[in-house]
Amino acid sequence: MDEFELINRYFDRQQTAAGVMTGIGDDGAVLRPSPDTDQIQVVDTLVAGVHFPNDTNPADIAYRAVAVNLSDIAAMGGRPRWMTLALTLPESDASWLEEFSRGLFAAADAFAVALVGGDTTSGPNLVVTVAISGEVDQGEALLRSGARPGDAVFVTGTLGDAGAGLELLQRGEGDDYLAQRFLRPSPRVAIGRALLGKANAAIDISDGLVGDLRKLLDASGVGAEINLENVPLSNALCHQFDRDAQLRFALTAGDDYELCFAADASSVVGIEGITAIGSITDSGELVWRENGTIVEMTHSGYRHFQ
Ligand code: ADP
Ligand code: MG
Repeated sequence: MDEFELINRYFDRQQTAAGVMTGIGDDGAVLRPSPDTDQIQVVDTLVAGVHFPNDTNPADIAYRAVAVNLSDIAAMGGRPRWMTLALTLPESDASWLEEFSRGLFAAADAFAVALVGGDTTSGPNLVVTVAISGEVDQGEALLRSGARPGDAVFVTGTLGDAGAGLELLQRGEGDDYLAQRFLRPSPRVAIGRALLGKANAAIDISDGLVGDLRKLLDASGVGAEINLENVPLSNALCHQFDRDAQLRFALTAGDDYELCFAADASSVVGIEGITAIGSITDSGELVWRENGTIVEMTHSGYRHFQ
């Protein structure tokens, strides 16, 4: 199967999509942004054996590649619109490509993003690069900077599931729910949209709450106090791991693709799927408490003060 045939068969759906003047098949895509919008451009690369286990199902690889990009769009309050796909393949296997394109379009269709182009190459290792552009009304994008002392700190969903799911997959005992949380992240696009004009700062949690919240605080020039007992955990995580492991996954494992944001608590009342875990302070410090007692946090986990 040559490159032309591969693209035609698996990626070019010959569909019309809003704003796509010319899609797959020309030298480049011609796209028409909505009037009075700012464009948000994100890209993420997933390398086999580094970002996902080598034996991951191709549909899940593709789904995840789209979802992790959508999570960045979500963190900025963007509406996803168009994506490109750069694929490096060790071999062109028909059933693999069939599965891969199924997962890719499952994610794309769920979030109304159109595939408008890409690049296909052969190489020794599987590498998947997805780039997505989205849009927001001019000047409205949610940034990491902007958190203010007195804001509450929120997260979406539950934390730690993906890290636990990955560990289970690596042990060969992939619990359905937790493994799915790793393989098929839920980008919080709708919540991101709902936060426009309400949240003062936002970030998506790709590397773990400890590191990603720190980035938001640094960008905003503020500190925070977080209450560990308020960090939302799933029943599945709590049933299968002890408290130390739960917190290790929730705080430092990453791969959750939930959002963390700062907002005046009264302005986000009624938004579903969010939990307040603490507050922004003017100290510059990030302080963790468990039932009132300060605990020390390191990148590999936390420990109680002696
Ligand atoms: P060029 O040589 O001009 O870059 P290519 O032959 O690489 O063109 O690609 C032909 C068309 O197919 C282009 O529109 C390109 O965007 C698209 N394309 C290539 N690979 C992919 C892919 N994996 N997914 C979607 N579109 C692709
Ligand atoms: Mg090309």
